[in-house]
Amino acid sequence: MRTRFAPSPTGPLHLGHAFSALTAADLARRQDGTFLLRIEDIDRTRCRPEHEAAILADLAWLGLSWPEPVLRQSDHLPRYARALDRLAALGLTYPCRCTRADIRAALSAPQENAPSPLYPGTCRHRPMSDAAPGDAIRLDLARALALAGPLEFTETGPLHPGTHPADPTPLGDVVLARRDIGTAYHLAVVVDDARQGITHVVRGADLWEATPLHRLLQHLLGLPVPVWHHHRLIRDASGRRLAKRDDARALATLRAEGVTPERIRRQLGFP
Ligand code: GLU
Repeated sequence: MRTRFAPSPTGPLHLGHAFSALTAADLARRQDGTFLLRIEDIDRTRCRPEHEAAILADLAWLGLSWPEPVLRQSDHLPRYARALDRLAALGLTYPCRCTRADIRAALSAPQENAPSPLYPGTCRHRPMSDAAPGDAIRLDLARALALAGPLEFTETGPLHPGTHPADPTPLGDVVLARRDIGTAYHLAVVVDDARQGITHVVRGADLWEATPLHRLLQHLLGLPVPVWHHHRLIRDASGRRLAKRDDARALATLRAEGVTPERIRRQLGFP
């Protein structure tokens, strides 16, 4: 049994991250498993080494530990390229030169309340031999679904427990490789969960909609299939989901104010 916490070092960790990390670590502890850490830093325009250092310090302060070395995605770009090549060899990808804003929306981990628009398929007719530097690479979802056939995934979290059909149709032809970094969240996450031997993917409910796609990519890439555990999101007093901009809830701020890790654990409902 292996779980992970996979933050992107784009800002300070806040209570929502603490909840996610503690949920994963707690599950691992109760099932005699292993809690792993992964730094999701493929987006070099937004990730900073100082945020990564602060993340490690915050998690250690919370009382968490993990086996070293920590997997840092930016160290493994060739592995994502190989996975992309495999999907291309199956005839499931195409190059896309549509707008940057479109691509950005599709590439970072999807954010709650901001669904990216469905890609209209403008470039779907283009063969991979036509790929030019500066093109993104998209998944031809209709072809991928036709090849894979019906799939299911198992959710063990409290919000939607059970077995669900894995239908990524609402996501459309997602970007598998950004024009600037040669990979993207959806591809990197499935490659790394397999690489780290993750059996229980613990993460926030904001990534629930991405799960059918991850299940499909695992199938197409011949990767082992974990179970998922999506947890509730921690909200502020007005009901808004906490975001990295909410520095007042940053763990570092709370720590500087004298809040103890024990109090944070209790506040978030952990023993
Ligand atoms: N790196 C993602 C985030 O910070 C989490 C991805 C995942 O857990 O699958 O939102």
